[in-house]
Amino acid sequence: MTDVLIIGCGVIGAACAYELAHSNVSVTVLEADNDVANGTTKANSAILHAGYDPHPGTRMAALNVEGVALARDICARLDVPYDPIGSLVLAFDEKDLETLNVLYDRGIKNGVPDIELLTADEVHAMEPNLADNVCGALYAPSAAVVSPWEYCLAMAEVAVKNGVELHRNSPVTAIEQIEGGFRVHTPDAVYEARYILNAAGVNAGAVHELVAPKEYHITPNRGEYYLLDKNQGQQVSHVIFQCPNENGKGVLVSPTVHGNLIVGPNAEGVSAADDTETTSAGLEFVMNAARRSVPGINFRENIRNFAGVRANHSSDDFLIAESKFVPGFFDLAGIKSPGLSAAPAIAKEAARLLAGAGLELPPKADFADGRTRVRFNECTPEEKNALIAEDPRYGRIICRCETVTEGEIVATLSTPIPPMSVNGVKRRVGAGMGRCQGGFCGPRVQDILARELGCSPVDIPMDSNGTWVLCGETKSKAN
Ligand SMILES: Cc1cc2nc3c(=O)[nH]c(=O)nc-3n(C[C@H](O)[C@H](O)[C@H](O)COP(=O)(O)OP(=O)(O)OC[C@H]3O[C@@H](n4cnc5c(N)ncnc54)[C@H](O)[C@@H]3O)c2cc1C
Repeated sequence: MTDVLIIGCGVIGAACAYELAHSNVSVTVLEADNDVANGTTKANSAILHAGYDPHPGTRMAALNVEGVALARDICARLDVPYDPIGSLVLAFDEKDLETLNVLYDRGIKNGVPDIELLTADEVHAMEPNLADNVCGALYAPSAAVVSPWEYCLAMAEVAVKNGVELHRNSPVTAIEQIEGGFRVHTPDAVYEARYILNAAGVNAGAVHELVAPKEYHITPNRGEYYLLDKNQGQQVSHVIFQCPNENGKGVLVSPTVHGNLIVGPNAEGVSAADDTETTSAGLEFVMNAARRSVPGINFRENIRNFAGVRANHSSDDFLIAESKFVPGFFDLAGIKSPGLSAAPAIAKEAARLLAGAGLELPPKADFADGRTRVRFNECTPEEKNALIAEDPRYGRIICRCETVTEGEIVATLSTPIPPMSVNGVKRRVGAGMGRCQGGFCGPRVQDILARELGCSPVDIPMDSNGTWVLCGETKSKAN
């Protein structure tokens, strides 16, 4: 019987696995998809929010501010792209200026470091491309941008390296209460665990109801985005928000850690947890709202639209608690924004709850932290030569837009959580992230994966299982 079984390996499940891997306890993670970070964790604004939005006194406020501070160190240790660019909330009129005062007071109460109210002149000096009618801003230097999927993957990889068992393609379909814990069923296996952490994101309510009566309701809410080419990445140098409203933090414009410009999201209730469609109406709304902040964005430079689904529920806080009816079953649910920012602090809170329920967490003396990967496009010419001398596959460029080599792609297959799909490679080394969005390198990545895994390219999906690229027989080049 494993001590703790975590259901779901988005950023919350991964952060919990990473946190618990520091202790001498056995941990198993079950992920429904063929990859980690393939739910909401891969489709969001990628902002580590400073923490002035949540209401003071809520758990969300405390965990947001703590999580952002923890994230800075984790990203440094685990080689995760992270840039502390700070954020600005813009005011366009008197009412907005009042809102900024409210946010400033909240920020002070929440312990957000160094926040400041700026005049129109100050904000225009910092961001010359903003609309002329911006009349003030709230500046929060502790906000940052991050690669959300690498953040999740890095924590999951280090957890696995330290003994956590991760099973992908393992959707939990049934949970029974047994003497001293739980029996958890997936289509292919049965697991037993003393405690369960439910980190199933927008599916957390459904997972909860596999073992307990309904205690909350998750409402999926979709946000749509534009991702613009790198020639738009310098439009702004901070995360640019508008004042929040009843639909959330509103439409933002921000550079990404990869040098692109991200614009979005809207907020629209949807009926299905996996409804990540983009719509012309949603995207038009986003475009018009963003132009209010930064009129000169050239949307013809758009390279990708995508959508993510928020796990909304009726309260203004995260739902982090043991079930009232099923001792030992803990929900980490309703983890809407700022869930990415709060993730490592949520994991520490989960560990505290487990300890409170009787789980001993003795520190693991030989915990091996740290992780790094080769980024060929960031190497000096000398480093490139050395890599190529050691392995000529570093001399073959597969992704021309992002200068990703065959050597980097092959190296991912020896990592603790190797990719199983074309987009799995994209999330690990950036092949397909550039202007052509995999139009050139996608088939080559598919070929390399098939060759290295000893299967047919037909068996390599684009992303989740079932997203097949090819069907029928492929002929080898020799024929
Ligand atoms: C539009 C949008 C913008 C956002 N922007 C930000 C932001 O800028 N900053 C911020 O801090 N937060 C942001 N968030 C919130 C943040 O993205 C989420 O809080 C965070 O990603 C939630 O992570 P998670 O691990 O709970 O969920 P997920 O990433 O969805 O992971 C849940 C995992 O559980 C798995 N799963 C589901 N059911 C089962 C099952 N039965 N068995 C096994 N596995 C299962 C899924 O496959 C999935 O991998 C945003 C969210 C959205 C939608």
